[in-house]
Formats: sequence, C-alpha cells, structure tokens
Amino acid sequence: MKIVVIGTGYVGLVAGACFAETGNDVIGADVDARKIDGLKNNVLPIYEPGLEDLVERNQASGRLRFTTDVANAIAASEVAFIAVGTPPGEDGSADLKYVLAVAEQIGKNMKREMVIVTKSTVPVGTATKVAEAVAKSANHPFHVVSNPEFLKEGAAIDDFMKPDRVVLGAETDHARSVMTELYAPFVRTGKPIIFMDIASAEMTKYAANAMLATRISFMNDIAALCEQTGANVDLVRKGIGSDNRIGPAFLFPGPGYGGSCFPKDVKALVRTGRENSVPLRILDAVEAVNDDQKRVMFAKLRRALGEDLSGAQIAVWGLAFKPNTDDMREAPALTLIEELLEAGAKVRAHDPVAVHEAKKHLGDAVTFAETSYDALTDCDALAVVTDWNEYRHPDFGRIKSTLRRPVVVDGRNLYSPEKMQALGFRYYSIGRGRES
Ligand code: NAD
Repeated sequence: MKIVVIGTGYVGLVAGACFAETGNDVIGADVDARKIDGLKNNVLPIYEPGLEDLVERNQASGRLRFTTDVANAIAASEVAFIAVGTPPGEDGSADLKYVLAVAEQIGKNMKREMVIVTKSTVPVGTATKVAEAVAKSANHPFHVVSNPEFLKEGAAIDDFMKPDRVVLGAETDHARSVMTELYAPFVRTGKPIIFMDIASAEMTKYAANAMLATRISFMNDIAALCEQTGANVDLVRKGIGSDNRIGPAFLFPGPGYGGSCFPKDVKALVRTGRENSVPLRILDAVEAVNDDQKRVMFAKLRRALGEDLSGAQIAVWGLAFKPNTDDMREAPALTLIEELLEAGAKVRAHDPVAVHEAKKHLGDAVTFAETSYDALTDCDALAVVTDWNEYRHPDFGRIKSTLRRPVVVDGRNLYSPEKMQALGFRYYSIGRGRES
C-alpha cells in the first residue's frame, strides 16, 4: 500500500518505519527540514531502542522515504496518517491547528480516493472537523478513520509491532477493509482489531490514558498515607496487584507522572468534560495529586538537608520522564531542578540519553555530568528521579565516599531501605514506612 505518514515524531516515525517493515511503500513527511535531512542520513531526531536499525533497513530497501514536500507525498499516496502534535492550548484543550492544517493540505493534494487516518490523540468530535477541512478542496472521495496510538516511548517498536489491540474508528466498508489489510501483519498472534464508531475510538484513547494516570495518582496518595502510618506501599502494591480485578501494572508510586501524553491528555479530557457540562471530578483530583507529587522529592531533600538549601549542591540521576527515552516533556526532574535552583541550590545532573533534550529546557543552569558517579562530586545529596537500569545496582561505597553527606532521596524505590540504613545512608523513598 502507498502510505504517507505526516509528522515524523515519536509516533509518526515509529508507525512509518513499522508499516514499511511489513512491506508497504511509506513516505514520512514533515515540515521540519532539519529532522528530514537527518532522517535521510539515518540520523534519528529521537532516542528509541531499535528504531535506528528499522529506519536504516527500510530506507536501504527503498520502502521508506522522507520528505519535506508534504503535498507531493500526499499526491502519491492512498492512505494518509496524520501524526502531528496536539499540544495543550491555554485552556487545556488539545490544540488542533496542526491536525486541521494537515487535513486541509490532504484535501488540496489528494489525487485519488483516500483513507485519512488520525493517529494523533484528538478529542472526541475531531474527525468531523478533519472531514470538513479535507472536504474544502477534495476532488475525490475520502474516508476518515480514527486510529489512536497506544505505543509507549522506550518500547515503541515492540508495542507497535505486537500491540495488545488495535482500535479503529471507521464507518465505511472501504475504510474497514483497508485498515484490516494494513494491520493484519501486526495481529497475527490473535490480538484483536477492535472496530468501533469514530467518536468511541477518539474517546478510548483519552479514557485509557486517564485511567493509567488515575492509577498512578491513586498509588501516590496511598504512598503518602503509608508514610504517615508506617505501612509499606511496596507490600501494599503487591497485595492489591495480585487481585486479578486490579492487576499489577501501573501501581508504582513515584515522583509524579510526566511525558508528552498523560499530563496533556488528562487536561484535554477534563476540558472536554467541562465543555459538555460533565465535570470529571476524579480527573481533577488526579491532576492535583500529580502536581503535588512532583514536589515531594524537593520536600524530602529539605527534610534531609534543612529548610535552607542555598549553597547546597544536589546530584540528580535521571532527567527523562521515564527510562529508555530522551523525552523531557513535563518530566518530574524539571520540576525538582527548578525548585532546587529557586531555593539557591546547585545541581549536577546525569542521564544516559536525555542530556541534549534537557539542555533545551535547562540551558547551562545545571552542570551535566558525563557519568552517574561524576554527578556526585561535591554534592550534599543524591536524588534518583528516573529508574534507568544503570541506577539499579550502583556501587554504594563509591556513592557514600563521594557525596559530602550520605543522603539519598529515591523517587523510584530502587533500593532497600534496610540495606541503605545498614550502609550508613540517610535514605528517603516513596511511601515505605515512617521517615525520621
Ligand atoms: P512530536 O512532537 O514528536 O512529533 C510531531 C511532528 O509533527 C513533528 O516532527 C513536527 O515537525 C511535525 N509537524 C507539525 N506540523 C506539521 C505539518 N503541518 N506537516 C508535517 N509535519 C508537521 O509528537 P509525538 O510525540 O509523535 O505525538 C504526535 C501525536 O501522537 C500527539 O497527538 C500525541 O498525543 C500522540 N501520541 C503520542 C505518543 C507518544 O508516546 N509520544 C503516544 C501515543 C499518541
């Protein structure tokens, strides 16, 4: 099939590469000339395990091409995926200007009957706006489809190649048959393609992310209560996660959720609720809990080092909002670092891959260390914000001898409190009993 994927970010690039891998002719089109120049030379704009190989292999075979000439790419295609950003507008609603601009462009440049697929996360009702934008100048029939994406950054290729399910909002036989053919290679293991009406597909994506964010905020609330009552949230998590009505995933307390999706999608859904006079009170609370949670590590550092942090220097391990990605959007590390800088502290930070992205947010306000141990030099405490594998079994002797004070604030519960205490650390984690 001849496919254009418009927007070559985390979602568009992965989707395009995976469709090419399954034998389609794919053009990745983007307005960002630097990104496209890089991609043509197999230089990826993002860090995503396995993606570079996939892009290189499929470009070499000629099945995957990249261009800034969006108009010609549309003209050459029978299926168009819209995978541009939908950032939050001032009022929290999803800003659809990129999606609708692309829809208009598709209408102007299509040369045959097309299936137009929204992969970007868009509020319920957007497909109608997309159809109107295309229809302004379309000279051929077209079929709008909603195909929300559920990949996780850091495991995106696997998630795309072996999805738990594919959700498709499609309302014509032609659209359903094209999408079934396109996704057949990805669901060979029997995972379902779930067809539904377009509005339900659009809502499914928001409901999924809102549910996941709710689990995180719920556990963070429980963790706070554990700290006051002497209970251990790790054991509580295991205790409830083994109930198959609850399940073990997404029950980890931490420094608050971040990333490009949960914060903006929860906000957008709250906004949709308001517009429809259905206040989503649970999600209001989910957001409020998360905002507070992003400040918990700072509060713990203050408890450990004293109210006045001016003159202190803190080592921060992990900047990306989660491991295996360089995505810094809404990362909890940014909130912590901003608070530390505001309090007059200095920061030495380490991350295995996100430093170049972090620099876009933090400039030279912090020192970026080459290695995790280098980040500890002349620091009064270590704050572990992202659970990269390389932080899981560090050399504690080296940490202790390098830090000025033996203080570790662990936002991911990576280490054993008993072991840390035995090693002579003052160790703070999330929700594991009372803290001194
Ligand atoms: P991104 O910011 O990484 O990429 C968007 C790309 O679109 C950029 O390269 C930008 O240059 C390009 N673009 C913008 N306007 C364009 C235009 N008019 N023509 C061509 N290209 C244009 O965004 P992303 O993280 O890939 O997210 C894209 C969408 O997918 C969002 O709606 C997001 O909510 C959704 N989503 C993201 C994830 C994720 O994990 N990142 C997961 C599921 C869904």
